[in-house]
Amino acid sequence: MIVASDSPSAERRPNLFRQPSLVALGARAQILGQHPLTVWLTGLSGSGKSTIAQTLECRLIDAGRACSVLDGDNLRHGLNCDLGFSPEARRENVRRVAEVARLMNDAGLIAIAALISPYAEDRAMARHIVGAEHYFETHLSADVDACERRDPKGLYAKARRGEISDFTGVNAPYEVPTDPAIVLATGSLSVERCVDALFAAVMARAAPSSPGSGMQP
Ligand code: ADP
Repeated sequence: MIVASDSPSAERRPNLFRQPSLVALGARAQILGQHPLTVWLTGLSGSGKSTIAQTLECRLIDAGRACSVLDGDNLRHGLNCDLGFSPEARRENVRRVAEVARLMNDAGLIAIAALISPYAEDRAMARHIVGAEHYFETHLSADVDACERRDPKGLYAKARRGEISDFTGVNAPYEVPTDPAIVLATGSLSVERCVDALFAAVMARAAPSSPGSGMQP
């Protein structure tokens, strides 16, 4: 059974009580000297989510930022191995990744989440779970034609042959983000140019003194 709900409320869990932490909110981030972010990469299959996530992670580590990648495909081998690609399963996939990203942010880390996350409503849920002050939505803008020309995993060819159902861009929808923090034209620009732009934006937002960080410089 797939539980595709928003964060469970206390009303629905009458016998569960939140255990407050003895460590002050933000203390771990203070040690790491950064404002924790969830860099949420959304885009079609082949738009470059894994490539951008890994390259950004290397750049941030080199710059002394503590971060880690949550790759949607990798997580489907473990945490999310029970989920398929129906709208309900995708929603649960987003919910779980967002919850893990929130835990990473609580630990002071920058989480880089790379998953198609095609539905606007599901991304809004991710923003809600992570918290707007941490959520950094990044749209990897490459249209179906560009992604299909690359087809790095041969999945578009399979989907066109009818061997994959619910394949985003072919026989399942992708709702383009209307208000992302940044858009990367991964369909036309190089990996380096896209990562340069994203790295600069993330470094600015992750700075302890950035607006809304709530941290003392
Ligand atoms: P996704 O994770 O979105 O399915 P991948 O990162 O696995 O996509 O594959 C994207 C492919 O497109 C890779 O082969 C990558 O080298 C290529 N590519 C070309 N230009 C870019 C770019 N600007 N950003 C990301 N990937 C790019």
